[in-house]
Amino acid sequence: MSDAYKIQEHKYDVVVVGAGGAGLRATFGLAQKGLRTACLSKVFPTRSHTVAAQGGISAALGNMGEDDWRFHFYDTIKGSDWLGDQDAIEYMCREAIPAIIELEHYGVPFSRTEDGRIYQRPFGGMTTHYGKGTAQRTCAAADRTGHAILHTLYQQSLAHSAEFFIEFFALDLIMDEEGACRGVLALEMATGQLHLFRAHGVVLATGGYGRAYFSATSAHTCTGDGGGMALRAGLPLQDMEFVQFHPTGIYGAGCLITEGVRGEGGILRNANGERFMERYAPNAKDLASRDVVSRSMTIEIREGRGVGPKKDHIHLDLTHLNPADIHEKLPGIAETAKIFAGVDVTKQPIPVIPTVHYNMGGLQTNYHGEVVTLKDGNPDHVVPGLYAIGEAACVSVHGANRLGSNSLLDLVVFGRAVANRCAETIRPGAPHKALPASACDRSLANLDRLRHADGGTPTAMIRDDMQRTMQNNAAVFRTGETLQEGVQKIRAVFESFQDVRVSDRSLVWNSDLIETLELQNLLGQAVATMVSAENRKESRGAHAREDYPERDDVNWHKHTLCWVDEKGNTRIDYRPVHMYTLTKDVDVVPPKPRTY
Ligand SMILES: Cc1cc2nc3c(=O)[nH]c(=O)nc-3n(C[C@H](O)[C@H](O)[C@H](O)COP(=O)(O)OP(=O)(O)OC[C@H]3O[C@@H](n4cnc5c(N)ncnc54)[C@H](O)[C@@H]3O)c2cc1C
Repeated sequence: MSDAYKIQEHKYDVVVVGAGGAGLRATFGLAQKGLRTACLSKVFPTRSHTVAAQGGISAALGNMGEDDWRFHFYDTIKGSDWLGDQDAIEYMCREAIPAIIELEHYGVPFSRTEDGRIYQRPFGGMTTHYGKGTAQRTCAAADRTGHAILHTLYQQSLAHSAEFFIEFFALDLIMDEEGACRGVLALEMATGQLHLFRAHGVVLATGGYGRAYFSATSAHTCTGDGGGMALRAGLPLQDMEFVQFHPTGIYGAGCLITEGVRGEGGILRNANGERFMERYAPNAKDLASRDVVSRSMTIEIREGRGVGPKKDHIHLDLTHLNPADIHEKLPGIAETAKIFAGVDVTKQPIPVIPTVHYNMGGLQTNYHGEVVTLKDGNPDHVVPGLYAIGEAACVSVHGANRLGSNSLLDLVVFGRAVANRCAETIRPGAPHKALPASACDRSLANLDRLRHADGGTPTAMIRDDMQRTMQNNAAVFRTGETLQEGVQKIRAVFESFQDVRVSDRSLVWNSDLIETLELQNLLGQAVATMVSAENRKESRGAHAREDYPERDDVNWHKHTLCWVDEKGNTRIDYRPVHMYTLTKDVDVVPPKPRTY
């Protein structure tokens, strides 16, 4: 097989796949530590989905009122519905403070308070004194925080001697017989050239798989390629049933309206003009956790109090806010609402609906960013040479539900952690062990098959079937019935990929082939999501089952691991939640009822 394809070989200490916030933070951290680092990205780095993040990044700086990282720790655990690993959450919330100061020093143009400190806004589920007060914890650069962070991180990466391979599509991990990761195979899209990047460490920072659904706030590039590569390498994905629906995607368009809008005083209203969140979350109201708000909106619509001719959405009202404040703090939102919903936010409400937004699940890692898996009864077995960070990973700091502004934080904290870990464990310039000649064969065989696939079903049709099945059968509310049907349907869609048709045989700028490779990655994750959801017979965080409406800590306080093989066969196992902390500075928070 390898004879048919010419492969250009490269040797690096570490290869990072992905140039979003997580990948770039890792890339320049690694370069800074003296490791020879390559960063591959299928899109130009500053076009990664991180650029679209609006609302901000959390850290208990206490610039706008009292705050403490221990409050942040508590809120994150409660937000996760007790599924988050408490050692990792402790690490993230404590490291948040130096991580933000560091970002400021690198050049992120944060908005400012009167006295020149970093501006912070309230966000859902963020409180003081363990749920008693409202915290202003989310650091913002107006409503374009991701844009500001991503550009700064890219500039820092260029300032260090990291090497970029842009518009390179990573195909597969190269694993050896002992189960260690030894590199990655990639396709240079502009020329069709194949490249083998050999490395002592491969860091997957490929983002989420929101595009498994029909309506998502994520970019079209969010196809979970890292998760797809992991499944093909025989690794499981963790907690895939937990998919976050953001309460406020623009109705019909799917574009996000940041939670920062509610942080600045925006209110959700039903057809009667009622501020209904007062009934569901008497304390936090519109700023309850995302899963809670999305479910409340869905109930309002179901009970006939939705707005619009079909009574199928909700209004987000900003008309009572001062137009000057909107202009200063939410300029991007005003523009997005104008373009995608045709409304002037100072005069009319924005039509919104819960929309797929974030994947809590992903590659299981520890808080160093090392990929771990269940092996020989050990739930924390480290996979040598493989790391994962950002939305592709499941550390798990977000558990069953992520709090808004904790993802940008996750990117920079664990991007830095992985760089530190690699610097501790990888010697710069260490020689590379020989690879068997057949190392790339499986990946090349897959590429060759898809390139010549001449079945009867176009990629776009299979993708559409997958997206509609996910949207209908793994939604905000789930039942045994919809999930069982969903499992059957998604398995059938997976099967139908055998019959895919790719019309262009070339390897050069072949978007049909690239979209087919992306679909293959999405399909494995769609199956894992549906099967994991069907299996979990309780409600926790974003996983809300009408047939099992309560959280069941006796039977289900555990993480799901799901393997999907090439034929679509699945295997499920579970591992315990880390109910311990790294230091004595905080106490473990035992499970309690979750009310806002
Ligand atoms: C609209 C929107 C707004 C958001 N707002 C906020 C917010 O205000 N605060 C917050 O905390 N979170 C927010 N989030 C969530 C957060 O932005 C994302 O979770 C986060 O940016 C993901 O970053 P990442 O680095 O993991 O991946 P991404 O930014 O998605 O980057 C993925 C990278 O991987 C590369 N890649 C993928 N596959 C391949 C492949 N096969 N080969 C080569 N390269 C590949 C891509 O080119 C890209 O560079 C928001 C999300 C969305 C969608």
